Amino acid sequence: MQHFDLHCHSNISDGTLSPTELVLRAAGRGVKVMALTDHDDLDGLPEARDVAEQNGMTFINGVEISVSWRTHTLHIVGLGFDANYPPLVQGLQAVRSGRGLRAQKMADELAKVGIGGVLQGAYKYADNPNMIGRTHLARYLVEIGHCKDVKSVFNRYLATGKPGYVKHQWSVLPDAINWIRGAGGIAVLAHPGRYMTGRSGMGKKTMRELLTEFVELGGGALEVVTGSHTPEQYAEFARYAEEFNLLTSCGSDFHGPGESYRDMGRLADFPIGCRPVWTESPLRELIPAGVE
Ligand code: AMP
Ligand code: MN
Ligand code: MN
Ligand code: MN
Repeated sequence: MQHFDLHCHSNISDGTLSPTELVLRAAGRGVKVMALTDHDDLDGLPEARDVAEQNGMTFINGVEISVSWRTHTLHIVGLGFDANYPPLVQGLQAVRSGRGLRAQKMADELAKVGIGGVLQGAYKYADNPNMIGRTHLARYLVEIGHCKDVKSVFNRYLATGKPGYVKHQWSVLPDAINWIRGAGGIAVLAHPGRYMTGRSGMGKKTMRELLTEFVELGGGALEVVTGSHTPEQYAEFARYAEEFNLLTSCGSDFHGPGESYRDMGRLADFPIGCRPVWTESPLRELIPAGVE
């Protein structure tokens, strides 16, 4: 079991717990080093840091940036950056700014298949209205009885190609990596296995092209152990990390009790041969001696 959790969400994006509640849960479950990685938003970091440090944990600034690459949406996790770096702050502001209109379009599409009132309903679940996203729509659809849980709503209505799905232009990969690196952090390709599943998923050739481009642009690590990977995928992406000379990262991608594959503090160890992101990156100097 690992004591590091470098990917999770608070209600600043689409998690259900406040930054304080999330950090206390992590502390109670044995996490020693954590990064809060809300989608496209840094507002939870100061509160999370305070609570983490009051509870004897090491806190790392994090974010999960939405990126459009070819026909795919990618998530790039940034770790260990200066959260006041203006290009990062302004870049994220720009990424967030399209979310309101996108939510409205998704609600319009759902209205066409007979599900009304979704926009207003979704905003009830968005504690930070600037960060309205698909998960908030999904929670409302569960509330009004269309599906039994959030996952089923995605499968039926919100995943690529489903009735409520709307194409969206997020940031571009060079910008996302440059914002993170310019702020002194390291860029991590999040949950790569997720990009390879389903009918619209990429094949191995495209994954290799993506990793080649990611490395050329200055990307530093691959998320190998994540809540959405199987143990076979830990091994598969450990091999990709080795081939592309990338460090490896791990995180639960926890969104809230009852909504996630993996809870905090319950992550498997890396496969043998991985080089953890905290051993050789800008993160190294943030981790106190003896923590592992
Ligand atoms: P958005 O940034 O608004 O497109 O929302 C992306 C978020 O939706 C992800 O970070 C997940 O929290 C959630 N999500 C995406 N796909 C699924 C899925 N198949 N099942 C459950 N949640 C999902
Ligand atoms: Mn999410
Ligand atoms: Mn993600
Ligand atoms: Mn995430």
